Amino acid sequence: MLAVNAGLFYSYYGFFSIGLYALHWSQRKYKPSYVPTTARMFHNIWYASLAAVQLTAWEVLYLHLWASGKLPSYASDVEWLATPRGAAAFVGWTLALPVLHDVHFYFIHRFIHVRPLYQFVHSLHHRNVDIEPFCGLAMHPIEHLFFFSLLGLGSVCAQAVNQSYTPPSTEDSPTRLHTASC
Ligand SMILES: [Zn+2]
Repeated sequence: MLAVNAGLFYSYYGFFSIGLYALHWSQRKYKPSYVPTTARMFHNIWYASLAAVQLTAWEVLYLHLWASGKLPSYASDVEWLATPRGAAAFVGWTLALPVLHDVHFYFIHRFIHVRPLYQFVHSLHHRNVDIEPFCGLAMHPIEHLFFFSLLGLGSVCAQAVNQSYTPPSTEDSPTRLHTASC
């Protein structure tokens, strides 16, 4: 799982790094001649790698709690889409998630700009005065904690929604019927 997360990070940010700095697909917006130093790139890659490690740890914990029954099981997509009400909720939450993400990010970002947190945590992120692709997740691990707390918030929302919705029937759900007919 760590290899997948780290691979995704390196592939995504690496694609833009190579495209912008090696292949010159686009010009720099502010300083066309500026290219981040190798030391700056490795600094950012190191902290982005720590983000991959922390994200993986949260994923492992979450999956463990789910698999061991300590978190409630969720209705499948097929079960959600089996009724008009479920389908409406499914679409509504799909549209609401980017809004939830942005509201969450706005408030945590305001919070880590409070002086002590900024000084000891968030200033690391703002050391990148002329940004390059890997600097997006070049954060102090405490800031990663705030950033990935969105997963916990999303989980709480998902549980609340899931508990408010009962799939048609476990006995004759589409998933079960489909499985039984295979
Ligand atoms: Zn900031």
